Amino acid sequence: MKNNILEILICPACDGSLERTGEKLFCRKCQKEYPLFQNAFFFSEGEHQKEISLGKIFSFLLRRLNPISYWPFSYFTKREFKRLYESYLKDRMTARKFAHDYLPEDYSKNREDGVILDFGCSQGRIAAIMNQLGYKVVGLDKLYYAWWTNLKNSTFVVLNIDKKIPFQDRSFNIIFAFLILEYLQNDEIIIQELNKKLKEHGYLILQVPNKDNLRHLLTRRKLAQFHLREYSIKEISNLLKNNNFIIEKIWTERFYSPIFTNTLNYVFEILLPHKILDFVSSITPQKYRGIINVIARKK
Ligand SMILES: [Zn+2]
Repeated sequence: MKNNILEILICPACDGSLERTGEKLFCRKCQKEYPLFQNAFFFSEGEHQKEISLGKIFSFLLRRLNPISYWPFSYFTKREFKRLYESYLKDRMTARKFAHDYLPEDYSKNREDGVILDFGCSQGRIAAIMNQLGYKVVGLDKLYYAWWTNLKNSTFVVLNIDKKIPFQDRSFNIIFAFLILEYLQNDEIIIQELNKKLKEHGYLILQVPNKDNLRHLLTRRKLAQFHLREYSIKEISNLLKNNNFIIEKIWTERFYSPIFTNTLNYVFEILLPHKILDFVSSITPQKYRGIINVIARKK
């Protein structure tokens, strides 16, 4: 079983194999060099220097415009996120719940070694949880996140994902792709690419926004402005079935309010205990919840 990420990682420019020389990765075939920092490899230039997100720009503007009304929100948000991310690193209950909800049953029973890919890993939430459970993870995202340095059993790859994923074919038993597909130009090419990177009968565990959520039903608006698209249960099922996957399980989660969505989301996620959101979600009919989860298996 390949446990070392350098055995499966390939040069994104030429598909050559890579070797580590000091603080760099070196491609034997095209002689390109890629910088390394902590536990991250940089395959695209410049993007690691700044982490800019719209959230950050927005909060910066809010801070400038309205300091008095903003401070309690930023205080609670910061505190809550710190608490949440610490739970991903250490809390056994969080890890067990995640495994119960998202890991295929036979996989968690007959655990194999090897590396898991978290495609579009963002801060590294899944990597943290999977590390707790004893798995090694390689995360891939287009931005560098300082939080990755907390994750000693994970490696990260910084690359602007569009068509090619720089790993040898048939490298992974499991690939997670949570809330990433809706941002990518060509979702079908990515699904095909992820299929290639899975071993035979490997799992793709996918999360996408549900087009039929309550908010869309009422206002015809997307859950987030920058989603290129959202999916109905039927659409995501067809996309997977048409691209060499068998769907093993598909279900929805999360209540999204049809009105005052952002404010109410904030109240539910940050201010109130999570049990309340869980309860409201559980009484929302399956079809109208915010997120679709899929466990799919490579044919
Ligand atoms: Zn190369």
